[in-house]
Amino acid sequence: MFNSNDMSLFLTALSFATEKHRAQRRKDCQATPYINHPIEVAETLWHIGKVRDIVTLVSALLHDTLEDTQTTPEEIQNLFGTDVLCVVQEVSDDKNLPKQVRKRKQIETAAHKSTRAQELKLADKICNVHDITRAPPKNWSLERRTEYIDWAEQVIAGVRGVNPSLESHFDTIAAEARHTLTHPTG
Ligand code: NDP
Ligand code: ZN
Repeated sequence: MFNSNDMSLFLTALSFATEKHRAQRRKDCQATPYINHPIEVAETLWHIGKVRDIVTLVSALLHDTLEDTQTTPEEIQNLFGTDVLCVVQEVSDDKNLPKQVRKRKQIETAAHKSTRAQELKLADKICNVHDITRAPPKNWSLERRTEYIDWAEQVIAGVRGVNPSLESHFDTIAAEARHTLTHPTG
């Protein structure tokens, strides 16, 4: 359950991630503040997935800090502990690898990750596929958006069974995204 220590850790993580992402924007044409995304991922875990595990929720707030900011594993370890660090590392790509290799590895490794990391992957892909529909990266063609959904579905194939509510929500969001891409307005 979520107690007062959990709330304290959650707020520390929110503040930490906000500071780390403070100069970053999402790729949509409105350049939405980056921190909106980790907050949405945590919210999706809570509301859709009914996830109450504090390690997973804190990891959601921090999930892009290692990959996309100067944050070090030691910082996460010291402030949030080993369990959180492990989950954040599990959902972070190795930026030293070429992009196509990173993409392939996400598909290949999804089934072997911890339950926490798999639930976080589901929420992350829900939010990104939703963004592809409502606020896609600027200049992405229909083809590229479709390829993203195809790829996200391949990653999610590896985590099916871990959280039926998140899984079914992902399927709905992906179907809506496909419908929007095949019936573009204007
Ligand atoms: P990127 O990895 O460059 O971008 C997608 C990532 O950006 C998301 O996973 C998300 O990651 C983050 N992001 C930031 N803002 C948004 C937003 N508004 N909406 C959605 N995601 C956002 O994309 P890829 O290189 O993976 O491209 C997707 C597919 O397109 C691949 O299959 C690739 O092969 C293909 N491709 C096609 C090209 C073409 O011209 N047809 C060219 C290049 C690639 P996070 O949650 O970590 O922030
Ligand atoms: Zn993300």
